[in-house]
Amino acid sequence: MDYFPVFHKIKGKQCLVVGGGSVGSRKAGVLLDAGAKVRVVAPEIDDELKAQPNVESVLTRFDAKYLDGVSLVIAATNDRAVNKQVSELAQARNIPVNVVDDPELCSFIMPAILDRSPLMVAFSSGGASPVLTRMMRGKMETIIPQNYSRLAAFAERFRELVKTKVTNPAKRRIFWENALDGVVAEKVLTGDESSAEAMLQQMLANEDNIVRGEVYLVGAGPGDPDLLTFRALRLMQKADVVVYDNLVSKPIVEMTRRDAERIFVGKKRNDHTLQQEEINQLLVRLAKEGKRVLRLKGGDPFIFGRGGEEIETLAAEGIPFQVVPGITAASGVASYAGIPLTHRDYAQSCVFVTGHLKDGTMNLDWEQLARPKQTVVVYMGLHGLDTLCSKLVEYGLPSTTPIAIVQQGTTQNQRVFTGTLATLPGIAEREKPQAPTLIIVGGVVSLREKLAWFHPQG
Ligand code: SAH
Repeated sequence: MDYFPVFHKIKGKQCLVVGGGSVGSRKAGVLLDAGAKVRVVAPEIDDELKAQPNVESVLTRFDAKYLDGVSLVIAATNDRAVNKQVSELAQARNIPVNVVDDPELCSFIMPAILDRSPLMVAFSSGGASPVLTRMMRGKMETIIPQNYSRLAAFAERFRELVKTKVTNPAKRRIFWENALDGVVAEKVLTGDESSAEAMLQQMLANEDNIVRGEVYLVGAGPGDPDLLTFRALRLMQKADVVVYDNLVSKPIVEMTRRDAERIFVGKKRNDHTLQQEEINQLLVRLAKEGKRVLRLKGGDPFIFGRGGEEIETLAAEGIPFQVVPGITAASGVASYAGIPLTHRDYAQSCVFVTGHLKDGTMNLDWEQLARPKQTVVVYMGLHGLDTLCSKLVEYGLPSTTPIAIVQQGTTQNQRVFTGTLATLPGIAEREKPQAPTLIIVGGVVSLREKLAWFHPQG
């Protein structure tokens, strides 16, 4: 270890930046963020920097006297001789000094930072490779959610209270581990601090200091794991039990925590009612056992996903839950198939409908669907394809209107079948697309030929 990592308290202290260009401005900005007063010395100083509060601009060349009363110095001029002079004079007075991009002249180096204040992560390669350091920071950016700031501030707020209530340090550590990894944290991260506080108090009142059971209703997107959200991934790796059905692709299920229990609740097409009720009850039972339950759903939970029904049961039972949106099949599949859902020349509106057959018929507002300049996306529509095409023609769409069926969109098995309202039923009959399939109707489908091959999966 060549450097000793510390976090330096400079709030309210006088710091000096020598150099007033873009680099100096950036460094001054970090100092200002940390609450310092910044003196900038340079013959020319960026206007924006000059205008900042807590900045004292001194429009002249550097002189030793500007080090008076200074706690920390950064030299950011493009003149090495000046930088060297700043470094030597500062070090002679034991003032910490950093010279940008010149480790030899530095008494301290500045890390790349990931700011989730009060949580702060600093990265350094000791000057070996700033690019590598920044890349590492980029990776961590994606792993540590933005709102960890909030979580850290929340923990800070209750630190003293917990200290007085849980006096044994080992127990206190476990208490915080449970709080910061469980329901309390989830509540803070979703912005519901009052529930989080109530739960924290409940934990403090409990003998075993634990409140755990909760349900995450997570949209897993249409299939490609790259389309998961950060939050989905985080919860997938946190859950004790995973409840999923056939719409969730295998690679996604495999990204859930390795030692989590996995329960398949695949639904058959004609057997919804009973099974849905059973799933609702299963979620309740698991959460009541104290587990962190991940209900993983294809696409978005609130778009033809019966997410509403599942959370109704949870809410009625008082079980904490959160809903994480996902990319719905319509948008994921359309973009991987090269079909823009709206386009100024072809479609000013886009409607999503379910083509699920009830008693063998499709109960849809055909008049509304058969409008010109509109894209219609049909979920669960393959079995009613004949009806769909003939009804749309009957209600006024030209039989030459383009239409596509996308099979297993966004996955390795994606296939796109295109035709017209007149021809597609025959094509489907021959080609037998494999579920899940999405149907897209409208002029936008004709753009596919121009656009599809820009996408690897097209
Ligand atoms: N909540 C889901 C939809 C559930 S309904 C969402 O937001 O996407 C199930 C229907 O979604 C399927 O019958 C099919 O029409 C469509 N679907 C889901 N994933 C799909 C995929 N990868 N490719 C094509 N269609 C898909």
